[in-house]
Amino acid sequence: MTKLFPGNGRFFLSDEQWREYLSPEEFHILREAGTEAPFTGEYTDTTTDGVYSCRACGHELFRSETKFASHCGWPSFFAPVAEEQVRYLDDDSIPGRPRVEVRCANCDSHLGHVFKGEGYDTPTGLRYCMNSVSLTLTPDED
Ligand SMILES: [Zn+2]
Repeated sequence: MTKLFPGNGRFFLSDEQWREYLSPEEFHILREAGTEAPFTGEYTDTTTDGVYSCRACGHELFRSETKFASHCGWPSFFAPVAEEQVRYLDDDSIPGRPRVEVRCANCDSHLGHVFKGEGYDTPTGLRYCMNSVSLTLTPDED
């Protein structure tokens, strides 16, 4: 199920168009910055080799080599495939708990948040805490 739109720039649809295209859950998380319940996502514990793309537009975001077992309840990565594949926004939606939101650089859909300095033994010390609903895994062919 690859949903790939042509072009590398920002992909734009109206909310109405997104609603036709995405399931209600996908719309809520991708377009309204929702969060799936922890330990419920289909990719939380997935170890399959492959590439994780944006569920909304097919833009490549993460590879399985950077996925790690964070035990936080959501699929976690220590780096995107390339920095320009994602964009970052300050998220002050929870008072007193500033966070950094991660969005797809192609279609501006919400993916999750990135946290640092949590003590995970990874090359970057970062935890990209993603919603499974925001991602589509394409397993490697071998
Ligand atoms: Zn996207």
